[in-house]
Amino acid sequence: MTAIKVDNVTKVYKLFERPIDRLKESLRPGHKEYHRKFYALNNISFDVEEGQFVGIIGTNGSGKSTMLKIITGVLTPTTGTVTVNGRVSALLELGAGFNMEYTGIENIYMNGTMMGYSRQEMDKKLPEILDFADIGDFVYQPVKTYSSGMFVRLAFALAINVDPEILIVDEALAVGDVFFQAKCYKKINEIREGGTTVILVTHDMGTVIKYCDKVIVLNRGHFVAEGEPGKMVDLYKKILAGQFDERELEGIGQKADFADQLLRESEKEKTQKQPENSGKAEADGKAAAGEDSAPGISQTEQDGPWMERLSINKEQLQYGDGSARIVDLGIFDHKGELTNLLFKGKEFTIRMKVRFTRQIKDPIFAFTIKDSKGTEITGTNSMIEGCDTGTVQAGQTVTASFRQRMDLQGKDYLLSLGCTGFEHGEFVVYDRLYDVVNLTVISDKNTVGYFDMNSRVTIE
Ligand code: ADP
Ligand code: MG
Repeated sequence: MTAIKVDNVTKVYKLFERPIDRLKESLRPGHKEYHRKFYALNNISFDVEEGQFVGIIGTNGSGKSTMLKIITGVLTPTTGTVTVNGRVSALLELGAGFNMEYTGIENIYMNGTMMGYSRQEMDKKLPEILDFADIGDFVYQPVKTYSSGMFVRLAFALAINVDPEILIVDEALAVGDVFFQAKCYKKINEIREGGTTVILVTHDMGTVIKYCDKVIVLNRGHFVAEGEPGKMVDLYKKILAGQFDERELEGIGQKADFADQLLRESEKEKTQKQPENSGKAEADGKAAAGEDSAPGISQTEQDGPWMERLSINKEQLQYGDGSARIVDLGIFDHKGELTNLLFKGKEFTIRMKVRFTRQIKDPIFAFTIKDSKGTEITGTNSMIEGCDTGTVQAGQTVTASFRQRMDLQGKDYLLSLGCTGFEHGEFVVYDRLYDVVNLTVISDKNTVGYFDMNSRVTIE
């Protein structure tokens, strides 16, 4: 039997340049339209069979969360229909379905009611939920006082202990600690063996391959293909690497009307990125922080600022005395392609262009990487790395490049950049951009904790 039928679903968001435009349009319906239409989902159709474990993968912004929200009824589609047969329990992006002012207990009962359980039924489920969440007396505190880890524990405990017929999980697991994650996956597996239908959105390709019966690939709001996990993960990697070819879809059970367009887009991107590929100097491992003047850089400038082609955090924080300004930044993968998506185990380069407004001796260039909880995972600077930056003149622009291997786990991260220095023995911040850009790491294998030690195992 079909548990979920998604039929020609399109979701259009209205984008307004300025908040006042939204107001103007709402005040005079039927008059001038002030919005631009954005297709977050474009004619998506797929079925999920009862008891199936289905993964949805795709780059950031491809519409995965929007799709899950439509299936769970949090959002309504602009056109198209979704038919759901069975009691749904969902773990959406942090916060969805919870009232921040209510306590944990109150939220448990509120969600239970929404799922159609009576108070007495929830009374019976409560001990199991509390036991799984294991957050102690915090359940009597308003949810807004929780750490993201505690929040996920409660949300997951709730979602999974209400006997769902359909369980929907959106990446939320990445927030808990590893032991809790392990506990969650064990529980998900139990649930699935009990016949529950599961839809999971994740960046962890290891999980996708291990658990999914079927995988759906979305890209920029379009359905690309669906099929066997291994093949879909390969396809996804090709999309990431910009080498997706329509012909690849043959024989993997696709129904992609979109393949055509995607192919054309990736062709276009390839030709745009050509100059960067030809500037291979850095790919040969020559470049180090500060001394990188590979021809690739000056040539990519023809394409305009790197920043314009990355997904930049609009809520970034900027701070500094203005003696220098970070005017551009880029992340380049192992092939020298500008991207927010990196593969674990592969080399990548962080670059920043800094313009100086006065003469500065020995400026320090730095980056840090935080996880979505705000924990600083790693970072370095040109001074620590022993790179002599010399004296920079007013009006000069310097490009600092950091090249290294990505050994962080497959997850989302935030990158911060800075240019600082010492003057008369005092530490001075010239310019800092906090959490300026989102960085997604794709992995085939996530180990325990923050990074991979690349252990080699032998048994004797
Ligand atoms: P994913 O989960 O795959 O990263 P999302 O479903 O969150 O993608 O978002 C798909 C696209 O829709 C993104 O480009 C996002 O910026 C956009 N989007 C999501 N929510 C809104 C909204 N409320 N208004 C406008 N655009 C939105
Ligand atoms: Mg999402």
